[in-house]
Amino acid sequence: MTGTASSESQGDLLERYTRSLITVFGTPQLVLERGDGAWVWDTDGKRYLDLVGGVAVNSLGHNHPALVAAVSKQVAEMAHISNFYTSRAQIELAERILEIAQAPEGSGVFFGNSGAEAIEAAIKLARRTGRTGIVAAEGAFHGRTTGALALTHKAAYREPFAPLIPEVSHVPYNDIEALRAVVTEETSAVFLEPVQGEAGAIPADPAYLRAAREITAAVGALLFIDEVQTGIGRTGDWFGFQASGIVPDAITLAKGLGGGLPIGALVTFGPEVTGLLTAGQHGSTFGGNPLVAAAGLSVLTSIESDGLLRHVSDMGEHLATAVGSLGHSEIEGVRGRGLLRAIVLRSEISAAVAAAAREAGFLVNPVSPNAIRLIPPLVVSREELDLFIAALPGLIATAKESSS
Ligand SMILES: *Cc1c(COP(=O)(O)O)cnc(C)c1O
Repeated sequence: MTGTASSESQGDLLERYTRSLITVFGTPQLVLERGDGAWVWDTDGKRYLDLVGGVAVNSLGHNHPALVAAVSKQVAEMAHISNFYTSRAQIELAERILEIAQAPEGSGVFFGNSGAEAIEAAIKLARRTGRTGIVAAEGAFHGRTTGALALTHKAAYREPFAPLIPEVSHVPYNDIEALRAVVTEETSAVFLEPVQGEAGAIPADPAYLRAAREITAAVGALLFIDEVQTGIGRTGDWFGFQASGIVPDAITLAKGLGGGLPIGALVTFGPEVTGLLTAGQHGSTFGGNPLVAAAGLSVLTSIESDGLLRHVSDMGEHLATAVGSLGHSEIEGVRGRGLLRAIVLRSEISAAVAAAAREAGFLVNPVSPNAIRLIPPLVVSREELDLFIAALPGLIATAKESSS
Protein backbone atom coordinates (compact mmCIF):
# COMPACT_ATOMS: atom_id res chain seq x y z
CA MET A 1 0.00 0.00 0.00
CA THR A 2 2.82 2.42 0.70
CA GLY A 3 4.63 4.45 -1.92
CA THR A 4 7.34 6.93 -0.99
CA ALA A 5 6.46 7.04 2.69
CA SER A 6 8.76 9.25 4.68
CA SER A 7 9.82 8.39 8.20
CA GLU A 8 7.96 11.30 9.78
CA SER A 9 4.28 10.57 10.46
CA GLN A 10 1.35 12.72 9.38
CA GLY A 11 0.78 13.51 13.06
CA ASP A 12 4.35 14.76 13.53
CA LEU A 13 4.12 16.98 10.46
CA LEU A 14 0.75 18.40 11.52
CA GLU A 15 2.22 19.10 14.94
CA ARG A 16 4.94 21.16 13.22
CA TYR A 17 2.22 22.87 11.16
CA THR A 18 0.33 24.06 14.21
CA ARG A 19 3.54 25.40 15.74
CA SER A 20 4.52 27.39 12.64
CA LEU A 21 1.42 28.55 10.74
CA ILE A 22 -1.37 30.94 11.68
CA THR A 23 -4.12 28.39 12.01
CA VAL A 24 -6.94 30.21 10.22
CA PHE A 25 -7.67 26.90 8.47
CA GLY A 26 -7.78 24.92 11.71
CA THR A 27 -5.60 21.83 11.56
CA PRO A 28 -5.44 20.48 8.00
CA GLN A 29 -6.79 16.98 7.45
CA LEU A 30 -3.79 15.55 5.67
CA VAL A 31 -0.25 16.23 4.57
CA LEU A 32 -0.22 15.53 0.84
CA GLU A 33 2.85 14.74 -1.16
CA ARG A 34 2.02 14.18 -4.82
CA GLY A 35 -0.80 13.79 -7.27
CA ASP A 36 -1.61 12.28 -10.63
CA GLY A 37 -4.81 12.97 -12.56
CA ALA A 38 -7.68 12.83 -10.08
CA TRP A 39 -5.57 11.08 -7.42
CA VAL A 40 -3.38 12.34 -4.59
CA TRP A 41 -1.09 10.59 -2.13
CA ASP A 42 -0.35 11.56 1.45
CA THR A 43 3.08 11.37 3.11
CA ASP A 44 2.27 7.87 4.40
CA GLY A 45 1.73 6.73 0.81
CA LYS A 46 -2.04 6.41 1.15
CA ARG A 47 -3.97 7.20 -2.04
CA TYR A 48 -7.16 9.29 -2.30
CA LEU A 49 -9.54 10.06 -5.15
CA ASP A 50 -9.53 13.86 -5.13
CA LEU A 51 -13.11 15.10 -5.55
CA VAL A 52 -12.19 18.52 -4.13
CA GLY A 53 -9.64 19.39 -6.81
CA GLY A 54 -7.96 22.11 -4.76
CA VAL A 55 -11.41 23.78 -4.44
CA ALA A 56 -12.18 23.83 -8.16
CA VAL A 57 -8.61 24.88 -9.00
CA ASN A 58 -6.93 21.76 -10.42
CA SER A 59 -8.98 21.83 -13.61
CA LEU A 60 -6.61 19.49 -15.47
CA GLY A 61 -6.02 17.31 -12.42
CA HIS A 62 -2.62 16.82 -10.86
CA ASN A 63 0.58 16.50 -12.83
CA HIS A 64 -1.07 17.03 -16.23
CA PRO A 65 1.68 16.57 -18.85
CA ALA A 66 0.69 19.64 -20.92
CA LEU A 67 0.62 21.92 -17.87
CA VAL A 68 3.89 20.50 -16.54
CA ALA A 69 5.56 21.02 -19.92
CA ALA A 70 4.22 24.57 -20.40
CA VAL A 71 5.16 25.72 -16.91
CA SER A 72 8.57 24.00 -16.98
CA LYS A 73 9.43 25.62 -20.30
CA GLN A 74 8.27 29.06 -19.16
CA VAL A 75 10.04 28.97 -15.80
CA ALA A 76 13.25 28.07 -17.59
CA GLU A 77 12.85 31.03 -19.96
CA MET A 78 11.57 33.63 -17.49
CA ALA A 79 9.08 33.44 -14.65
CA HIS A 80 8.45 37.07 -13.87
CA ILE A 81 9.10 40.51 -15.37
CA SER A 82 6.70 42.98 -13.57
CA ASN A 83 3.96 44.88 -15.36
CA PHE A 84 6.36 47.53 -16.63
CA TYR A 85 6.81 44.94 -19.38
CA THR A 86 4.60 42.36 -20.97
CA SER A 87 5.09 38.93 -22.50
CA ARG A 88 3.71 37.00 -25.43
CA ALA A 89 2.08 34.57 -22.96
CA GLN A 90 0.23 37.37 -21.16
CA ILE A 91 -1.08 38.90 -24.40
CA GLU A 92 -2.14 35.53 -25.79
CA LEU A 93 -3.93 34.56 -22.59
CA ALA A 94 -5.88 37.82 -22.54
CA GLU A 95 -6.86 37.32 -26.19
CA ARG A 96 -7.97 33.74 -25.56
CA ILE A 97 -10.04 34.72 -22.52
CA LEU A 98 -11.85 37.44 -24.50
CA GLU A 99 -12.52 34.93 -27.28
CA ILE A 100 -14.04 32.22 -25.08
CA ALA A 101 -16.03 34.83 -23.12
CA GLN A 102 -17.44 36.03 -26.48
CA ALA A 103 -16.57 39.54 -25.32
CA PRO A 104 -17.30 42.34 -27.80
CA GLU A 105 -14.73 44.65 -29.39
CA GLY A 106 -13.24 47.02 -26.82
CA SER A 107 -13.29 44.50 -23.96
CA GLY A 108 -10.26 44.01 -21.72
CA VAL A 109 -8.53 41.85 -19.11
CA PHE A 110 -6.76 42.83 -15.88
CA PHE A 111 -4.67 40.09 -14.27
CA GLY A 112 -4.28 39.67 -10.52
CA ASN A 113 -3.34 36.62 -8.46
CA SER A 114 -6.53 35.37 -6.84
CA GLY A 115 -10.29 35.51 -6.83
CA ALA A 116 -10.42 38.14 -4.12
CA GLU A 117 -8.07 40.36 -6.11
CA ALA A 118 -10.29 40.03 -9.18
CA ILE A 119 -13.22 41.15 -6.99
CA GLU A 120 -11.18 44.05 -5.58
CA ALA A 121 -10.50 45.22 -9.14
CA ALA A 122 -14.22 44.92 -9.88
CA ILE A 123 -15.10 46.99 -6.81
CA LYS A 124 -12.70 49.72 -7.93
CA LEU A 125 -14.19 49.56 -11.42
CA ALA A 126 -17.66 49.99 -9.89
CA ARG A 127 -16.48 53.03 -7.90
CA ARG A 128 -15.43 54.67 -11.16
CA THR A 129 -19.10 54.95 -12.18
CA GLY A 130 -19.36 57.72 -9.58
CA ARG A 131 -21.99 55.68 -7.70
CA THR A 132 -21.32 53.94 -4.40
CA GLY A 133 -24.04 51.35 -3.82
CA ILE A 134 -23.28 47.66 -4.34
CA VAL A 135 -25.77 44.80 -4.33
CA ALA A 136 -24.83 41.17 -3.72
CA ALA A 137 -26.81 38.05 -2.86
CA GLU A 138 -27.50 36.28 0.39
CA GLY A 139 -25.29 33.20 0.52
CA ALA A 140 -22.72 34.91 -1.72
CA PHE A 141 -19.01 34.25 -1.40
CA HIS A 142 -16.71 36.76 -3.09
CA GLY A 143 -13.52 36.40 -1.05
CA ARG A 144 -11.81 37.36 2.21
CA THR A 145 -9.89 40.59 1.53
CA THR A 146 -11.56 43.57 3.17
CA GLY A 147 -13.27 44.84 0.01
CA ALA A 148 -14.46 41.45 -1.19
CA LEU A 149 -15.47 40.54 2.36
CA ALA A 150 -18.06 43.32 2.34
CA LEU A 151 -19.75 41.47 -0.53
CA THR A 152 -19.45 38.03 1.06
CA HIS A 153 -22.62 37.31 2.99
CA LYS A 154 -21.68 34.99 5.87
CA ALA A 155 -21.82 36.95 9.13
CA ALA A 156 -19.12 34.85 10.82
CA TYR A 157 -16.63 35.87 8.12
CA ARG A 158 -17.58 39.55 8.16
CA GLU A 159 -18.40 40.57 11.69
CA PRO A 160 -14.93 40.26 13.31
CA PHE A 161 -13.67 42.80 10.75
CA ALA A 162 -16.43 45.41 10.79
CA PRO A 163 -16.73 48.12 9.68
CA LEU A 164 -16.27 47.09 6.05
CA ILE A 165 -16.95 49.24 2.99
CA PRO A 166 -20.39 50.81 3.30
CA GLU A 167 -23.50 50.75 1.12
CA VAL A 168 -23.49 47.03 0.32
CA SER A 169 -26.89 45.32 0.42
CA HIS A 170 -27.57 41.60 0.27
CA VAL A 171 -30.78 40.32 -1.30
CA PRO A 172 -32.23 36.79 -1.41
CA TYR A 173 -30.66 34.83 -4.30
CA ASN A 174 -32.90 33.86 -7.21
CA ASP A 175 -35.54 36.39 -6.08
CA ILE A 176 -36.20 38.74 -9.00
CA GLU A 177 -38.56 41.09 -7.14
CA ALA A 178 -36.14 41.49 -4.21
CA LEU A 179 -33.43 42.50 -6.67
CA ARG A 180 -35.72 44.90 -8.49
CA ALA A 181 -36.66 46.53 -5.19
CA VAL A 182 -33.08 47.30 -4.13
CA VAL A 183 -31.32 48.26 -7.39
CA THR A 184 -31.58 52.03 -7.95
CA GLU A 185 -29.75 54.84 -9.70
CA GLU A 186 -27.41 54.88 -6.70
CA THR A 187 -26.33 51.29 -7.44
CA SER A 188 -22.91 51.06 -9.06
CA ALA A 189 -22.93 47.29 -9.56
CA VAL A 190 -24.72 44.05 -8.81
CA PHE A 191 -22.46 41.04 -8.14
CA LEU A 192 -23.89 37.55 -8.73
CA GLU A 193 -22.48 34.02 -8.94
CA PRO A 194 -23.99 31.80 -11.67
CA VAL A 195 -23.81 28.94 -9.15
CA GLN A 196 -23.20 29.78 -5.49
CA GLY A 197 -20.32 27.42 -4.80
CA GLU A 198 -19.56 28.09 -1.15
CA ALA A 199 -23.27 28.15 -0.30
CA GLY A 200 -23.43 24.54 -1.54
CA ALA A 201 -23.65 24.52 -5.35
CA ILE A 202 -26.90 26.47 -5.62
CA PRO A 203 -27.51 27.40 -9.27
CA ALA A 204 -29.03 30.68 -10.43
CA ASP A 205 -32.17 30.30 -12.44
CA PRO A 206 -31.27 31.44 -16.00
CA ALA A 207 -34.37 33.68 -15.84
CA TYR A 208 -32.91 35.30 -12.72
CA LEU A 209 -29.69 36.26 -14.50
CA ARG A 210 -31.69 37.58 -17.45
CA ALA A 211 -33.85 39.64 -15.08
CA ALA A 212 -30.71 40.92 -13.33
CA ARG A 213 -29.43 42.05 -16.72
CA GLU A 214 -32.65 43.98 -17.43
CA ILE A 215 -32.95 45.45 -13.93
CA THR A 216 -29.37 46.77 -13.90
CA ALA A 217 -29.50 48.08 -17.49
CA ALA A 218 -32.72 49.97 -16.75
CA VAL A 219 -31.01 52.14 -14.09
CA GLY A 220 -27.52 52.24 -15.59
CA ALA A 221 -26.00 49.93 -12.96
CA LEU A 222 -23.33 47.40 -13.90
CA LEU A 223 -23.85 43.63 -13.76
CA PHE A 224 -20.78 41.72 -12.60
CA ILE A 225 -20.81 37.94 -12.74
CA ASP A 226 -18.40 36.27 -10.32
CA GLU A 227 -17.05 33.31 -12.29
CA VAL A 228 -14.16 32.62 -9.92
CA GLN A 229 -15.52 29.13 -9.17
CA THR A 230 -17.86 28.55 -12.13
CA GLY A 231 -15.56 29.75 -14.92
CA ILE A 232 -13.11 27.85 -17.14
CA GLY A 233 -15.33 24.89 -17.96
CA ARG A 234 -16.56 24.02 -14.48
CA THR A 235 -20.26 24.12 -15.46
CA GLY A 236 -19.78 22.46 -18.87
CA ASP A 237 -19.71 25.86 -20.59
CA TRP A 238 -16.62 28.06 -20.59
CA PHE A 239 -18.45 30.36 -18.19
CA GLY A 240 -21.52 29.89 -16.04
CA PHE A 241 -23.29 32.99 -17.35
CA GLN A 242 -23.28 31.69 -20.93
CA ALA A 243 -26.18 29.27 -20.37
CA SER A 244 -28.45 32.24 -19.62
CA GLY A 245 -27.58 34.08 -22.84
CA ILE A 246 -26.83 37.40 -21.12
CA VAL A 247 -23.91 39.75 -21.79
CA PRO A 248 -22.54 40.92 -18.42
CA ASP A 249 -20.56 44.14 -17.89
CA ALA A 250 -17.68 42.25 -16.32
CA ILE A 251 -16.74 38.82 -15.02
CA THR A 252 -14.18 37.79 -12.41
CA LEU A 253 -12.04 34.68 -12.82
CA ALA A 254 -9.45 32.79 -10.82
CA LYS A 255 -9.63 29.26 -9.42
CA GLY A 256 -9.59 26.99 -12.49
CA LEU A 257 -7.75 29.39 -14.79
CA GLY A 258 -4.18 28.54 -13.77
CA GLY A 259 -4.74 24.83 -13.19
CA GLY A 260 -3.07 25.26 -9.77
CA LEU A 261 -0.92 28.31 -10.40
CA PRO A 262 -2.23 31.48 -8.76
CA ILE A 263 -3.89 33.78 -11.27
CA GLY A 264 -7.05 35.87 -11.19
CA ALA A 265 -8.62 38.14 -13.78
CA LEU A 266 -11.19 40.87 -14.21
CA VAL A 267 -12.70 40.83 -17.70
CA THR A 268 -14.59 43.95 -18.75
CA PHE A 269 -17.11 43.80 -21.60
CA GLY A 270 -17.18 46.60 -24.15
CA PRO A 271 -15.31 49.91 -24.40
CA GLU A 272 -17.42 51.89 -21.94
CA VAL A 273 -16.84 49.59 -18.99
CA THR A 274 -13.24 48.87 -20.00
CA GLY A 275 -12.55 52.62 -20.14
CA LEU A 276 -13.58 53.13 -16.50
CA LEU A 277 -10.13 52.12 -15.24
CA THR A 278 -7.34 54.21 -16.73
CA ALA A 279 -3.54 54.19 -16.53
CA GLY A 280 -2.33 54.43 -12.95
CA GLN A 281 -5.65 53.60 -11.29
CA HIS A 282 -4.93 49.96 -10.48
CA GLY A 283 -2.03 47.56 -10.46
CA SER A 284 -0.42 44.32 -9.33
CA THR A 285 3.23 43.35 -9.14
CA PHE A 286 2.80 39.68 -9.94
CA GLY A 287 -0.46 39.83 -11.90
CA GLY A 288 -0.39 37.84 -15.14
CA ASN A 289 3.33 37.17 -15.13
CA PRO A 290 4.69 34.90 -17.87
CA LEU A 291 4.71 31.81 -15.64
CA VAL A 292 1.04 31.93 -14.65
CA ALA A 293 0.02 33.12 -18.11
CA ALA A 294 1.71 30.08 -19.67
CA ALA A 295 -0.17 27.91 -17.18
CA GLY A 296 -3.48 29.58 -18.08
CA LEU A 297 -2.87 29.15 -21.79
CA SER A 298 -2.05 25.50 -21.28
CA VAL A 299 -5.28 25.00 -19.30
CA LEU A 300 -7.43 26.65 -21.99
CA THR A 301 -5.69 24.75 -24.78
CA SER A 302 -6.10 21.40 -23.02
CA ILE A 303 -9.78 22.00 -22.19
CA GLU A 304 -10.34 22.61 -25.88
CA SER A 305 -8.15 19.84 -27.33
CA ASP A 306 -9.34 17.21 -24.83
CA GLY A 307 -13.03 18.06 -25.35
CA LEU A 308 -13.44 18.75 -21.66
CA LEU A 309 -16.52 21.00 -21.86
CA ARG A 310 -18.58 18.13 -23.23
CA HIS A 311 -16.92 15.73 -20.78
CA VAL A 312 -17.82 17.96 -17.82
CA SER A 313 -21.48 18.12 -18.88
CA ASP A 314 -21.58 14.35 -19.32
CA MET A 315 -19.84 13.60 -16.02
CA GLY A 316 -22.04 16.07 -14.15
CA GLU A 317 -25.18 14.46 -15.56
CA HIS A 318 -23.84 11.01 -14.82
CA LEU A 319 -23.04 11.92 -11.24
CA ALA A 320 -26.50 13.38 -10.60
CA THR A 321 -28.27 10.44 -12.27
CA ALA A 322 -26.18 7.73 -10.65
CA VAL A 323 -26.45 9.21 -7.15
CA GLY A 324 -30.20 9.65 -7.72
CA SER A 325 -30.62 6.04 -8.77
CA LEU A 326 -29.07 4.82 -5.53
CA GLY A 327 -32.55 5.63 -4.20
CA HIS A 328 -30.98 6.15 -0.79
CA SER A 329 -33.35 7.30 1.94
CA GLU A 330 -30.71 9.63 3.41
CA ILE A 331 -30.06 11.44 0.09
CA GLU A 332 -32.41 14.26 -0.79
CA GLY A 333 -30.90 15.00 -4.19
CA VAL A 334 -27.98 16.40 -6.17
CA ARG A 335 -27.83 20.05 -7.14
CA GLY A 336 -25.46 22.25 -9.12
CA ARG A 337 -24.22 22.22 -12.69
CA GLY A 338 -21.46 20.41 -14.54
CA LEU A 339 -18.79 19.35 -12.06
CA LEU A 340 -19.82 21.85 -9.39
CA ARG A 341 -22.24 19.66 -7.47
CA ALA A 342 -23.56 19.03 -4.00
CA ILE A 343 -25.14 15.86 -2.67
CA VAL A 344 -27.85 17.09 -0.33
CA LEU A 345 -28.49 14.88 2.70
CA ARG A 346 -31.60 14.66 4.84
CA SER A 347 -29.66 15.08 8.09
CA GLU A 348 -26.71 17.13 9.20
CA ILE A 349 -24.01 14.49 8.85
CA SER A 350 -21.88 15.87 6.04
CA ALA A 351 -18.75 16.28 8.21
CA ALA A 352 -19.04 12.66 9.35
CA VAL A 353 -19.58 11.48 5.76
CA ALA A 354 -16.48 13.42 4.66
CA ALA A 355 -14.46 11.87 7.48
CA ALA A 356 -15.64 8.36 6.54
CA ALA A 357 -14.85 9.15 2.90
CA ARG A 358 -11.32 10.23 3.74
CA GLU A 359 -10.76 7.05 5.72
CA ALA A 360 -11.98 5.09 2.68
CA GLY A 361 -9.72 7.05 0.28
CA PHE A 362 -11.99 9.79 -1.10
CA LEU A 363 -11.59 13.54 -0.60
CA VAL A 364 -14.90 15.42 -0.55
CA ASN A 365 -15.97 18.78 0.92
CA PRO A 366 -18.72 19.02 3.57
CA VAL A 367 -19.67 22.49 2.35
CA SER A 368 -22.61 22.82 4.76
CA PRO A 369 -23.96 20.58 7.54
CA ASN A 370 -26.22 18.67 5.14
CA ALA A 371 -24.37 18.98 1.82
CA ILE A 372 -21.30 17.30 0.36
CA ARG A 373 -19.71 19.38 -2.39
CA LEU A 374 -17.96 17.61 -5.28
CA ILE A 375 -15.69 19.81 -7.42
CA PRO A 376 -13.27 17.27 -8.92
CA PRO A 377 -10.70 17.93 -11.64
CA LEU A 378 -12.49 18.36 -14.99
CA VAL A 379 -10.61 15.29 -16.24
CA VAL A 380 -12.17 12.93 -13.70
CA SER A 381 -13.41 9.75 -15.41
CA ARG A 382 -16.75 8.00 -15.18
CA GLU A 383 -15.03 5.00 -13.57
CA GLU A 384 -13.48 7.22 -10.92
CA LEU A 385 -16.82 8.86 -10.11
CA ASP A 386 -18.41 5.40 -9.97
CA LEU A 387 -15.91 4.29 -7.31
CA PHE A 388 -17.21 7.05 -5.06
CA ILE A 389 -20.88 6.53 -5.91
CA ALA A 390 -20.59 2.82 -5.15
CA ALA A 391 -18.96 3.59 -1.80
CA LEU A 392 -21.45 6.31 -0.82
CA PRO A 393 -24.12 4.17 0.91
CA GLY A 394 -21.41 2.60 3.08
CA LEU A 395 -19.95 6.02 3.92
CA ILE A 396 -23.38 7.30 4.95
CA ALA A 397 -23.90 4.21 7.13
CA THR A 398 -20.53 4.74 8.82
CA ALA A 399 -21.34 8.42 9.34
CA LYS A 400 -24.71 7.64 10.87
CA GLU A 401 -23.14 5.13 13.24
CA SER A 402 -20.43 7.56 14.33
CA SER A 403 -22.87 10.42 14.90
CA SER A 404 -25.52 8.42 16.76
C1 LIG B 1 -13.10 31.23 -4.12
C2 LIG B 1 -13.95 32.35 -4.56
C3 LIG B 1 -13.54 33.68 -4.44
C4 LIG B 1 -12.25 34.08 -3.76
O1 LIG B 1 -11.15 33.56 -4.41
P1 LIG B 1 -9.72 33.51 -3.65
O2 LIG B 1 -8.77 33.07 -4.73
O3 LIG B 1 -9.85 32.55 -2.53
O4 LIG B 1 -9.44 34.88 -3.17
C5 LIG B 1 -14.38 34.67 -4.95
N1 LIG B 1 -15.53 34.36 -5.54
C6 LIG B 1 -15.97 33.09 -5.67
C7 LIG B 1 -17.26 32.82 -6.36
C8 LIG B 1 -15.20 32.04 -5.17
O5 LIG B 1 -15.65 30.78 -5.27
